[in-house]
Amino acid sequence: MPNPVVITAAITGSVTSSDQTPNIPLSADEIVDAAVESWRTGAAIVHLHARDEAGIPTQDAAIFRTLVEQIRDCGCEAILNLSTGSAGGRADLDERIACLEQNPEMATLDCGSINFGDERVFENPFYFLRDAASEMKSRSVVPEIEVFDSGMVQNGRRLIDAGLIDGPGVWQLCLGVKGGATADAQTMAYLVDRLPTGAFWSALGVGRNQLTVNLFSLAFGGHVRTGLEDNVYYQKGVLAQSNGQLIERIVRIAKEIGRPVASSDQAREMLGIVRR
Ligand code: ZN
Repeated sequence: MPNPVVITAAITGSVTSSDQTPNIPLSADEIVDAAVESWRTGAAIVHLHARDEAGIPTQDAAIFRTLVEQIRDCGCEAILNLSTGSAGGRADLDERIACLEQNPEMATLDCGSINFGDERVFENPFYFLRDAASEMKSRSVVPEIEVFDSGMVQNGRRLIDAGLIDGPGVWQLCLGVKGGATADAQTMAYLVDRLPTGAFWSALGVGRNQLTVNLFSLAFGGHVRTGLEDNVYYQKGVLAQSNGQLIERIVRIAKEIGRPVASSDQAREMLGIVRR
């Protein structure tokens, strides 16, 4: 049986600036256009971060609400996966989960703390994970359990065991962050092996590791995240023109190796998401 690949488009993130690439969507219109383009190109899930009027990352729930409404107004049916990250260290724990008020179909849950580059610690104490997971559960929001290192698998499994996340869970392995798990096949295999049996898993590689991790993931039977949040280059020294260009390449490769690309409704079925 073919195993359809679910592609997540991570279109803007909370780190990349226009100094790194002029192609990063920053204004509301640009983020909406990138979401729609990504979905049309083959992404079943669009992972969203918000930016304020100056393009600065924010967890402002009102901005998330406007983005979601505008994306839906364009007829885009992608599963929208809202970030509960820290907007690059700008948002406190309460602000981070304020976007859950609109009951998105999906939201991220970064399952542990980590050195994030040279200057910043991305803090996710276990009490926050417990509160965020329970808030998501009460709103029927499917958490994407983000794993940057192996201890985070243990945290995710503890939340499942405690009944705060429905098992076996939806997991995103985030490889190659400076301070986190390395982006190589052995590390990916090690992490996948520690997930609950039958878990849905996807992987991403940051920077120059993006495409190789995407390829490992396709080959291992996992799912794929790509987009300008994780990497601004199409190939060494050549900036990606758009999120769509990165997604198009994954669609092409997936078809070549006999993995059909899942539509957003197929992905809902695979992830246990009830369409809203
Ligand atoms: Zn993100």
